[in-house]
Amino acid sequence: MDAISLAGAYQGLKAAKDILTTLFDTKVDAEAKPKILEAQGKLGEVQDALFVLRERLSELQQERDDLKANLVTAEVWQTQADQYELTTTPGTAVVYKYKGQPDHFACPSCFNKREVHILQDNKMTAGTYRCTGCGANYPVKSPTHLNPVAVHWG
Ligand SMILES: [Zn+2]
Repeated sequence: MDAISLAGAYQGLKAAKDILTTLFDTKVDAEAKPKILEAQGKLGEVQDALFVLRERLSELQQERDDLKANLVTAEVWQTQADQYELTTTPGTAVVYKYKGQPDHFACPSCFNKREVHILQDNKMTAGTYRCTGCGANYPVKSPTHLNPVAVHWG
């Protein structure tokens, strides 16, 4: 049952109550009056129940719309996430690697928050890449690829 048919049922009940009220006000015998009042009371209870149902239906429809929107967001993210795979770099950083071109890595912390931030070569600290999202540094390049003077200074 949708909101429109609920509203229709509600209007139908209201009309029935109005008919009973008219009936009550006309010359009916004293025995009929308590029965009319009882019927009006019952109709009122059904009206109240319908009102609660209509409210609940409205809440459920809102929840459904929210869930649909969440599902679309999740599907969009999943499509993007499928283009990456977790990998261990030569420098032992565990990051996400793009499967396509151009080659790049994505921050795993930001990835878990459903954001892709491409790691950028951190020129200030050789071998590390920096996340433009959270600022974390990752040892992407192997130490053997670094300047030998810097590695073997001791
Ligand atoms: Zn990050």
